[in-house]
Amino acid sequence: MDVVNQVEHFPQPGETIASKGNDFIPGGKGANQAVAVARAGGNCTMVGAVGDDPYADSLIASLQTKGVDTKLILRKDGVSGMAFITVNSEGENHIVLSKGANGKLAEADVAEAINDWSAVEIVLLQNEIPWVTTESVIRGASADGARVFFNPAPAIRIPDELFTNIDTLIVNETEAQVITGIPVSDPISAENAANWIIGKGAANVIVTLGEKGSLLLGRQCPVNHVPAFRVKAVDTTAAGDTFIGAYAAANAEGMEAARALIFAGAAAALAVTKAGAQSSIPSREEIESFLQN
Ligand code: ADP
Repeated sequence: MDVVNQVEHFPQPGETIASKGNDFIPGGKGANQAVAVARAGGNCTMVGAVGDDPYADSLIASLQTKGVDTKLILRKDGVSGMAFITVNSEGENHIVLSKGANGKLAEADVAEAINDWSAVEIVLLQNEIPWVTTESVIRGASADGARVFFNPAPAIRIPDELFTNIDTLIVNETEAQVITGIPVSDPISAENAANWIIGKGAANVIVTLGEKGSLLLGRQCPVNHVPAFRVKAVDTTAAGDTFIGAYAAANAEGMEAARALIFAGAAAALAVTKAGAQSSIPSREEIESFLQN
């Protein structure tokens, strides 16, 4: 659950400032990306955990109303995952995470929910559950023949031997830098980081560059940089999640890579024009009508 405060400017250490308004909005990278997949037209089942607190039911209901299958979501004792988000008048954000139930999703829980990934086309993972669980799903799903899309957020150094299990690694500038050690701030440095990642064995890598767009490099495909759409940013909270979910949905339906990047960029651009996380993720119709104008 995202607890969002709008502020004029971020507080300095020791400073107390007034909120211009606040909201409780269902969020979480996994849930946001699941909603982005479903809203973009994909068929998506969420695997995850909520707590036994008053937020749990509204978190599940939010996924259901956006078209995500929730039958594999577990309930754990204690609180659900929470994010305390502050958004300034420029649309930039600061986020403090509290893992809650997400931190309790064990390897055995996932194995019980799904013990065979061979019927799954794409498994899309983030880094908001315990690393041992994530790592075992990456290995198990890829061994079963599912394609693994991994968004290592919050950023983490990925063990070398894991890269060959990854079909598509999707990172923003910070994540690219943590993984590769290469400072990333523009398409040229992003391409250097992408080459490093391909060299480790991932089949494809996408680096998202905020207002500078996104870049795809694959073992089988040359580098492709797509600029961002120009929109008025209100809240960039779920930009990356929206991009990733829309890209995964487009890829699953066989959309050609260059077009899928544009499709995902349009979805993300629409998301930054609205406040909130799941509530700002556009539908397929909205994405397509944006692309026609
Ligand atoms: P994250 O939210 O993970 O940091 P980015 O900031 O890189 O991810 O944004 C992901 C994608 O969202 C970008 O590649 C771009 O397509 C789109 N995007 C982000 N910010 C903007 C913006 N201000 N205007 C238009 N598109 C944006």
